[in-house]
Amino acid sequence: MLDKLREGLRGAIEKITRSTLVDKDVVDSAVRDIQRSLLASDVNVEQVYELSERIRKRSMEKIPSGLSRREHVIKVVYEELTDILGKEKPAIELKPKRILMAGLFGSGKTTMTAKLAFFYKNKGLRTAVICCDTFRPAAFEQLQQLSKKVEVAFYGDKAEKDSATILASALKKINADVIIVDSSGRDALDKELVDEIKNLNKMLVSDERILVIPADIGQAAREQTDAFHDALGITDVIITKMDATAKGGGALTACSLTGAKVTFISTGETPRDLEVYDPKRFVARLIGFPDLETLLEKAKGVVDEKKAEKMIEGDFGIEEFCEQIGAVRNMGPMSQMLEMAGLNTKKLPKDMMSAQEEKMGKWQHIIKSMTPEERKNPELIKHTRIVRIARGSGAHESEVRELLAAYRKSKKVIKKLSPGKLKRGGLGGLLKQFGA
Ligand code: GDP
Ligand code: MG
Repeated sequence: MLDKLREGLRGAIEKITRSTLVDKDVVDSAVRDIQRSLLASDVNVEQVYELSERIRKRSMEKIPSGLSRREHVIKVVYEELTDILGKEKPAIELKPKRILMAGLFGSGKTTMTAKLAFFYKNKGLRTAVICCDTFRPAAFEQLQQLSKKVEVAFYGDKAEKDSATILASALKKINADVIIVDSSGRDALDKELVDEIKNLNKMLVSDERILVIPADIGQAAREQTDAFHDALGITDVIITKMDATAKGGGALTACSLTGAKVTFISTGETPRDLEVYDPKRFVARLIGFPDLETLLEKAKGVVDEKKAEKMIEGDFGIEEFCEQIGAVRNMGPMSQMLEMAGLNTKKLPKDMMSAQEEKMGKWQHIIKSMTPEERKNPELIKHTRIVRIARGSGAHESEVRELLAAYRKSKKVIKKLSPGKLKRGGLGGLLKQFGA
């Protein structure tokens, strides 16, 4: 299963969406997560290295207008992953055609022959399958049964030992739009197998020569694809058993390296466990979003990084302070917010949490009672103004003083913060300075 890959990639994306500032350190850390998860999925080391370099380089490039750095980095990660996993969705032609299935023993050829027949039949094409596997015992019965299950025409000859004879006689009888020929497999691509399959191909005059490979061979898919391509001129690759291994990422990226087009992936044994392979959708699903747009929406939400940058540069008035508190409150219960910032709220007593939320609510009222001038220049707020603000907001004078003290303290802290520190402490660090 691709659970590890999924987890690792989601972790990396989370790092980017949740950091206060997306800088080089954050990108490096996310890239390390991506590397680990790709390598665990058996993706080729060199490919992982090149992908990492491209993500690092592109992330720090000039940001396209209309995007924040955060959105840009997420987009880069998404695009680079899609790139090594196959780029574009293949076009599956729905027209009469002749297909030859090839692959080593046990790769899932026979199962896939029936699945493809089911697929084309459901698209309204008259479909027939031919069993030309004379090597494996019971190959005939296996395909016969599967064909019956998916209700497509089946041709074969159990008594005949020469696959070419079977094919010739079946082709004479068949009247169908799509003809799919299941061939023999061996443990390795030996001369005997190559000769047999080449001969079948010549007789069939195939439109598509599909190589079936199981996902569990991981990056070895590269050599296998090359070898079959040399022998037969492969037009498409189908990867089976995606459900049963963690190495699917390796198999997919290896195919992309050879330039082979992966058209379908198979995720189980039943006829319905088949999907047209769409790299973009595949990556989006791994990351946990239906598409890039939704992902970018999320990136917009959490923290306004421009604001964070401005704050560090010294543009931190009481209004920014107010906004910070507002941002915290808008994100729902503070405990959730603190958890997102990496603090373990389970350790904090419940009543302390709600007391903090209450205090923040009060502070916002106090700030609303200040004049614009006072907000811009809080140093103006001395005794008489404090009395007025307290009265206006229904707060106690000591609470106004407490807020001013908290503001001064956080301003001092923010001045001292480097972008890296703010990022590492995240909002949790800031909140601590606010007295939370
Ligand atoms: P062939 O020797 O290449 O014709 O391979 P088969 O079609 O006979 O499949 C070999 C085994 O793999 C059978 O037990 C299939 O049920 C199983 N199989 C095929 N495709 C898949 C798949 O996508 N997922 C899983 N889990 N098993 C599969
Ligand atoms: Mg078979």
